[in-house]
Amino acid sequence: MAHAAPGAAISPAFIDQVRGRLAAVTVPHFIDGRWSPGVRNETFETLDPSTNRPLARVFRGHVEDVDRAAIAAHRAFGSWRRLPPKSRKRHLLQIADGIEKHGDELATIECLDAGQVIRVIRAQIARAAENFRFYAEYVEKAMDGRTYPVGEEWLNYTVRVPVGACGIITPWNSPLMLSTWRIAPALAAGNTVILKPAEWSPLTAWKLAEIIQEADLPPGVFNVVQGFGEEAGAALVTHPLVPLITLTGETSTGSIVTKAAADQLKRVSLELGGKSPSVVFADADLDRALDGTVFQIFSLNGERCTANSRVLIERPIFDEFVARLAERTRAVEVGHPLEPATEVGPLIHPEHRDRVLSYLEIGRREGASVIAGGTAWGTEGNYVSPTLLSGTNRMRVAQEEIFGPVLLAIPFTDEADALAQANDVRYGLAAYLWTGDVGRAHRMALGMEAGMTWINSHNVRHLPTPFGGMKHSGTHREGGEYAFEFYTELKHIAVPLGNHAIPQFGKRQEG
Ligand code: NAD
Repeated sequence: MAHAAPGAAISPAFIDQVRGRLAAVTVPHFIDGRWSPGVRNETFETLDPSTNRPLARVFRGHVEDVDRAAIAAHRAFGSWRRLPPKSRKRHLLQIADGIEKHGDELATIECLDAGQVIRVIRAQIARAAENFRFYAEYVEKAMDGRTYPVGEEWLNYTVRVPVGACGIITPWNSPLMLSTWRIAPALAAGNTVILKPAEWSPLTAWKLAEIIQEADLPPGVFNVVQGFGEEAGAALVTHPLVPLITLTGETSTGSIVTKAAADQLKRVSLELGGKSPSVVFADADLDRALDGTVFQIFSLNGERCTANSRVLIERPIFDEFVARLAERTRAVEVGHPLEPATEVGPLIHPEHRDRVLSYLEIGRREGASVIAGGTAWGTEGNYVSPTLLSGTNRMRVAQEEIFGPVLLAIPFTDEADALAQANDVRYGLAAYLWTGDVGRAHRMALGMEAGMTWINSHNVRHLPTPFGGMKHSGTHREGGEYAFEFYTELKHIAVPLGNHAIPQFGKRQEG
């Protein structure tokens, strides 16, 4: 397929070519190095969120398909973990090259399937490749352990070993980037993978499997089972050959998965929902606070776990800052995801659009003021106007994750009030602080119940840093070396260097 230059718009002819391919196939599972329609041969439809017309048909996996994938991944684990690290590293680098080589196709599919806009998705494709490059560098050092000499008599040491077949379950909002972020460290550590993508945006997982096939990984090392959460997802969570599950999704799903995995005492990492605050003090650089806050709610169509969906504003600047937010909110460019100028595209699915719109109704009923937006946008697809509400932190629109382009402005009186309101939600994923006072910035950051806090910045993530949430936003940290705490088993080994005394039970005393 032809490729547009990086940064350029994708040509209509290329988009048509991709659409044609999607219309022509039924997207299969990828199990044990082969494409498979699945045992039951059932399919489901994925929609183009800009029109809600069908985009592709996808095979719908069930317990039998998960079973085949789990057996394949379990079998492949034995040889993949023993592959010389140099070879494993080469495979990961080949996957990164493949993602870049097929970048335009991946970007087009992601925009068409997930409704995310091309200007954001291009950066995410680059990040997906970077994830493999980053973790490829760890292959030869991921198994590093520590030594604990005890005097001259003992040597204790630790090693990290892979766990086995990993079940990776991903959401629909950033399917490719979020899956690579887990697949790369899992494979780097010597595990094998079964990916279950979300049923509302399953298509880039298929393309990724093609790329991984081109990178010549041994059969069974990477598998994709398509399908629904309650079917393929649930089967993966309870499969006895899958000892480790990582789920990125809603908090309620995290709770279901944790319970389902409990009987087998599986290791479960959860990256869940958020209701993150942007806290704007009067002494902040307000232009930058405005840019950061507007970007951090409307990027990814507001379907972003780390979105600052609440903006807490110090009272003396509340009216002025809300007026500036409203002006910017009204000016956000809504449109087709593949238009380079578009900033906000359609929401993933009509059901999700209706859910987001229902929250606007709930907000109105609770007494929130609609300052900008507040309605569906356009005549087709799942578009919702970028929306600014003003209200209080006790409203449902402040407490519950809406996962759409909806920002709620809330006033605060002082630092203590800001901290109390920021923390007064069940979530604890991210926080954004805007202030010119260094001491206050750090005091607030320390007090913030959030896994990640950015001071005077939107979410700029560096790959070596930990990612994850507190409270109902998650249980583990992934990212950087922290990923290996999850994707490996830590073993301690002890060896005496001489003949230390061993208590002699059962040996009769002489004389
Ligand atoms: P979701 O929980 O509905 O689905 C996530 C995945 O879980 C999907 O693949 C789904 O099929 C699967 N699933 C659903 N029920 C299951 C079950 N019973 N057993 C096994 N698997 C099951 O979430 P979503 O609607 O796809 O994504 C949006 C949510 O994801 C939001 O809450 C968002 O905040 C969260 N999210 C969190 C992060 C993070 O890193 N913290 C990142 C992105 C999205």
